[in-house]
Amino acid sequence: MKIGGFVKFSLIDYPGKVAAVIFTQGCNFRCPYCHNPQLVYPELFTDPVSFESIFDFLKERRGLLDGVVFCGGEPTLQEDLLEIICKVRSLGYAVKLDTNGSNPDILAKVLPYIDYAAMDIKAPFGDAYARVCGVTINDYEIRRSMLLIRAAGLAYEFRTTFDLKYISIEGIGKIKKMLGRHEPYTIRDAVLNR
Ligand code: SF4
Repeated sequence: MKIGGFVKFSLIDYPGKVAAVIFTQGCNFRCPYCHNPQLVYPELFTDPVSFESIFDFLKERRGLLDGVVFCGGEPTLQEDLLEIICKVRSLGYAVKLDTNGSNPDILAKVLPYIDYAAMDIKAPFGDAYARVCGVTINDYEIRRSMLLIRAAGLAYEFRTTFDLKYISIEGIGKIKKMLGRHEPYTIRDAVLNR
């Protein structure tokens, strides 16, 4: 796994849990408001952090931390994601995955081994989606990921980064219509999150 950053203690990345956060390197999206470009653009990558050092740290912190969050970048691009998640779980940690939802085949393999999924919905389906995520995207894959997460029987949330330059209030309304009435949904302000 290519790891571009590691946060040893977070109260905000895993709802209700004290967590460590693993930031994976590489993303297949190019969202213009991205606040982690050093995890997206290869020319900005720093030397990777070794998973072995993180594993040793997590071993020592058992009982002090509750969970581990995998975010990025886009974690589902990492070939050994499932293997690493299983290693983290073997230490007794709850696992949360943050994803852009573009990779439902990998998501389907990983979902049985995680406890919480947070998936971005960048925009209403249609042309707006590519404008916000910066690449051509097949809506079908995003829809599949949404269905898989809903059916997995774990805690989850869908979420949208709100930046008026790229998505309108009306767009947010359209996204809400794509969701169930009581489905967990978070809107994050792109400026406040920088
Ligand atoms: S999906 Fe996330 S990490 Fe990737 S470019 Fe968009 S905001 Fe950045």
